[in-house]
Amino acid sequence: MKELTCIVCPIGCALQAEEGKDQTFTISGNRCPRGAAYAQEEIRSPRRVLTATCAIDDPAVNRPEAPIGSARRLPVKSSQACPREKLDELLQAVYRIKAKLPVQSGDALIRNWNGTGIDIVATRSLKSIGSF
Ligand code: SF4
Repeated sequence: MKELTCIVCPIGCALQAEEGKDQTFTISGNRCPRGAAYAQEEIRSPRRVLTATCAIDDPAVNRPEAPIGSARRLPVKSSQACPREKLDELLQAVYRIKAKLPVQSGDALIRNWNGTGIDIVATRSLKSIGSF
């Protein structure tokens, strides 16, 4: 028996996955079908949406006179869930990005990473901060 917490919605149902003889799993504890689907995928091929920040290619970013609270990194996320075993590799790709401003929320900074169909997109719009 495997125990999982469903992360599909804020309710967070406690799920139990019972393995059958034919390597199938029977899921219980879910209040809706999405929980069963989540558990099946989590057992067989766990995936996560990556959220991170990337560097900004703007010479003003690191100047000491940059306004307090001005963005020094750009928040980004993956456009779809990534296989968990590839998350570190994807994160390294994100850390190599130097985003050119301006950026609109939703702009793809990496497209179709390694042929997976996963894009890395900005989650915030940011204008150049070099004009202060
Ligand atoms: S099983 Fe359904 S109700 Fe329960 S946490 Fe998952 S999505 Fe939400």
